[in-house]
Amino acid sequence: MYARMSAIPEIVTHRGGCHCGRVRFEVDAPAEIDALDCNCSMCRLSGFLHLIVPKSAFRLVSGEQDLSEYRFGTGVARHLFCRHCGIKPFYVPRSNPDGIDVNVRAFDRGSVQRLTVTPFDGEHWEQHADALRDLSRDERRDG
Ligand SMILES: [Zn+2]
Repeated sequence: MYARMSAIPEIVTHRGGCHCGRVRFEVDAPAEIDALDCNCSMCRLSGFLHLIVPKSAFRLVSGEQDLSEYRFGTGVARHLFCRHCGIKPFYVPRSNPDGIDVNVRAFDRGSVQRLTVTPFDGEHWEQHADALRDLSRDERRDG
């Protein structure tokens, strides 16, 4: 019982994609997800629920040629969306350009055991981005 409590959270493979099905991905992440709900000018409009992972935990299964890119402001973030159906299943975030930010709303049903959503004040990004810095680091996954 006590051993279980200190165990590393179970990592599962979540699958998901865009609405038309051309863009498909897999991401290795805990079954119990802590997602961020950001209020910046982009996320407020798209309703993106953020799960930032190291690049090594993400696989684009199909649809690389179906992705369009949109950049604004500093141009660091690569906002990627399916050019057919307009859905944004994942992108390269400004806070973690070495990682991938996956949209928990784009996951197939069934793999998420528990979803905790925490607000992130992206409207005042410069004051808060440091809190996200380590999310794309591989070593984080081992504690
Ligand atoms: Zn699509």
